[in-house]
Amino acid sequence: MASLSLRGIYKRYPGGVVAVSDFTMNIKDKEFIILVGPSGCGKSTTLRMIAGLEEISEGELFIGDRLVNDVAPKDRDIAMVFQNYALYPHMTVFENMAFGLKLRKVPKDEIKKLVEEAAKILDIAHLLDRKPKALSGGQRQRVALGRAIVRDPQVFLLDEPLSNLDAKLRAQMRTELSKLHKKLGTTFIYVTHDQIEAMTMGDRIVVMKDGYIQQIDSPINLYENP
Ligand code: ADP
Ligand code: ADP
Repeated sequence: MASLSLRGIYKRYPGGVVAVSDFTMNIKDKEFIILVGPSGCGKSTTLRMIAGLEEISEGELFIGDRLVNDVAPKDRDIAMVFQNYALYPHMTVFENMAFGLKLRKVPKDEIKKLVEEAAKILDIAHLLDRKPKALSGGQRQRVALGRAIVRDPQVFLLDEPLSNLDAKLRAQMRTELSKLHKKLGTTFIYVTHDQIEAMTMGDRIVVMKDGYIQQIDSPINLYENP
């Protein structure tokens, strides 16, 4: 029940920039969608509108059957993971992962259980008492993912989550993210600049240019008909 329908969506920033124009597509439940395109083509803006962090100027966004244009981010059942991890430096890994649940007034026992489960999936159970500065890049990225997973969202938005990692770790995390997608059974929308990520991870690739959708196709078709 986490299909998405984006219907004629526009984003006009104050000052006149049209960052996204007539973005229209249906995303199936559990689909892994990759968003690619040159810098400035509107990828982040699209994710931010889906997350509710940016107002939609025109058009309609449905999550399942629900029109969510005016629904607050925290009520959208969506989690977003950023490339810079956005961890709170003064909090431990446990506290970072627990934060969103605390805000939602989840009982403490339940928080502990959810954090420990997610930490196990991500292989960071031994790091729960550390502060972010005492973690490697890959570990930080896992914590950022963990913070999203504990909320059990229906939709995961990932904005270049691996771009700050070195090549070896990136290759490892690619595989792990694909596994995670299957395991969680959630819909993923994933922005990347990385050709290998685009070609190997997604069910469908959306190519954007100047705010428009230029092409939507499976990796294999895009590879053969670029
Ligand atoms: P991408 O993620 O593909 O690099 P963005 O969605 O960040 O693209 O940006 C799309 C366009 O919108 C760019 O021209 C960018 O300069 C502009 N833009 C992004 N954020 C803002 C903002 N807050 N105010 C005005 N213009 C913005
Ligand atoms: P408070 O709301 O009092 O500030 P905390 O956010 O410090 O509480 O902790 C919330 C709950 O999570 C507490 O029950 C605490 O025992 C538990 N907890 C905190 N850190 C860890 C950890 N590293 N591993 C397991 N449980 C933890």
